Amino acid sequence: MADLRITGLEGDTRDLAREELDTFAAGLEGSLIFPDDEGFAEAVLIWNGMIKKQPAVVVRPHTTQDVVKAVAFVRDNELLLSIKGGGHNIAGLALSDGGVALDMSGMREVEVDVQGRLARVGPGCTLGDVDQATQVHGLASTLGFVSATGVAGLTLGGGFGYLTRRFGWTVDDLEEVEIVTADGEVRRASRTTNEDLFWALRGGGGNFGVVTEFVFRLHAVGPQVTAGIIAWPASDAEAVLELYRRTVESAPRELTTVVLRRNAPPAPWLPETAHGTPIIAIVACHSGTLEQAQADLAPIKSHGQPLADLIQVKDYVAQQTMLDATQPKGMHYYWKSEFLSGLSDDLFRTYNAQFADLKAPANQIVLFQLDGELNDHPEEDGAMGNREAAFACVIQAMSRPESGADDANRDWVRSAWQALKPYSTGGNYVNFQTEDEADERTVESYRDNYQRLATIKAKYDPSNLFRVNRNIRP
Ligand SMILES: Cc1cc2nc3c(=O)[nH]c(=O)nc-3n(C[C@H](O)[C@H](O)[C@H](O)COP(=O)(O)OP(=O)(O)OC[C@H]3O[C@@H](n4cnc5c(N)ncnc54)[C@H](O)[C@@H]3O)c2cc1C
Repeated sequence: MADLRITGLEGDTRDLAREELDTFAAGLEGSLIFPDDEGFAEAVLIWNGMIKKQPAVVVRPHTTQDVVKAVAFVRDNELLLSIKGGGHNIAGLALSDGGVALDMSGMREVEVDVQGRLARVGPGCTLGDVDQATQVHGLASTLGFVSATGVAGLTLGGGFGYLTRRFGWTVDDLEEVEIVTADGEVRRASRTTNEDLFWALRGGGGNFGVVTEFVFRLHAVGPQVTAGIIAWPASDAEAVLELYRRTVESAPRELTTVVLRRNAPPAPWLPETAHGTPIIAIVACHSGTLEQAQADLAPIKSHGQPLADLIQVKDYVAQQTMLDATQPKGMHYYWKSEFLSGLSDDLFRTYNAQFADLKAPANQIVLFQLDGELNDHPEEDGAMGNREAAFACVIQAMSRPESGADDANRDWVRSAWQALKPYSTGGNYVNFQTEDEADERTVESYRDNYQRLATIKAKYDPSNLFRVNRNIRP
C-alpha cells in the first residue's frame, strides 16, 4: 500500500510506510483512522466551520498507554500532533493540516466520588457528560455555558461559567491531573506533586502534554436552580443596562447574570412578531435558596415589558444546555474578547453604538459576569491569572457557510473590539482567541505569568512537540 504523507513538526512533509503505521495501530487498544475509513469525517469535525484543516490520520486512544504510544510515535517520527477534546476551540486548535490528530473521544468516562466530593473525568468528556454524572448527586463543578464544549480545552485554558462567582475559574476547582509529557512519562500533577506542572496546566493550555484525566472538586449545587433568560426590545437597552448594573452591584455570589444584545432568533419562546428584531436579554442563574432567588431576581422580572420571561425554577442541567441551540456546529464563527474590571456609562454608550449596523442577525456582544471568588486569589495562583476580571466581554459573529458574510462579520467584530478595547483590564481569554490572533495576544492573556509558563514549557516540552495550541515558546 502507498506511503502516507504526513506534516512534520516543522511544517515539512514526510512519507510514512503504511506498514509502519499498521504496526503502530496493532499496538493500540484504540484505533488509527485513515481518511477513507468510516468515522474519519466525524473525528475531524469541529465546531467552527470557518476552519478548514484536514489531518492525515487520526489516532483514537482508549487508554493512557495508547496515549503514551501515540506520543512516542509522533515524537520519534517528528510529526505534527494536535489534540481534540470537544473540538470547540474557535481557532480550530483540535486539528492541524496534514498532521496526526489525537481524538480523545474514546476516553469519555466520569467517575463521581460522592463522599470525597471529587469527579474523575476522561479527556474526551463534554461539559454535559460531567454535569449529568455529578448532578445525579446534586453536585457540580464550575463548567461553561454550552454543554457540547470539551472539558479538556475549557479547563486547560482556565474556564468559567454560571458558578464562577461562587467557586472561581474552572482551574480553581481542579485538584489533580494525569498527563503524558513529551518524554512519554505518565505523571500526576497537583498542588503537592509536580507543582510547577500543575501550576502551568491551570490555564496554560495544551502546551505541556496530553492530559489523560482531570480530577475536579465538587460542590453542592441544585439539582434545581432559578434560572433562564428574559428579553426586551432593544429600544429599552439603556434602561436594561442600568438595571443590569444595579443587579450585579447587589448580587450575592449565588447569582450570575449575563447581558447580550442581538437580533431575536426565530425561536419558539419569542413571539413571532419579534423574530429578527433587535433585542436585549439577561441570562440569569441563581443557585441559592428559592426565597433568596425570588428576591434577587424580582427587579429583573418586573422590569418593563419583556418579550419573553423564561426565568423559572428548573434543573441546573437544563440551564447548562439552554444556550446549546444558539451555537450549532459547522457555522462560521469569529470572536474577539477582553476582560473588563467594571461597567461604566461610557462603556454602555460604546456597547450600544456597535448595534447601529449589525452585519448578520446572529451577531452579538455578550457581557458575562465573573466577579467573586476568582478575585479573592492572588494573580500568581495558577497560570490563568486575570484575577482582577469582573466581566468577560465577547464580540461574536455567526453566519451560515453559504451566506458570504465572513468578511463583513470579521470587520464588524474587529471594529466593535477596537471600540470596546479601551475598557479592557488589558487581559483577554486565551480560549476565545481566533486563528488570526498573533502570539502577542497570548502573551497579553498571561501577562506576568507568561515567563514562568515559558520556563516550565522548556522543562517539560523543550522541543515544543505540543505546539498546535496558543503556543508558549520554550
Ligand atoms: C459554543 C462555545 C461556548 C463556549 N463557552 C465557554 C464558556 O462558557 N466558558 C469557557 O470558559 N469557555 C467557553 N468556550 C471556550 C472553550 O473553553 C474553548 O473553545 C475550548 O478550547 C474548548 O475546548 P475543547 O476541548 O472543546 O476544544 P478542542 O478544540 O478540542 O481543543 C482546544 C485546545 O485544547 C487542547 N487539548 C484538548 N484536549 C487536550 C488534552 N487532553 N490534553 C492537552 N491538551 C488538550 C488542544 O490541543 C487545543 O489546543 C466556549 C466555546 C464555544 C465554541
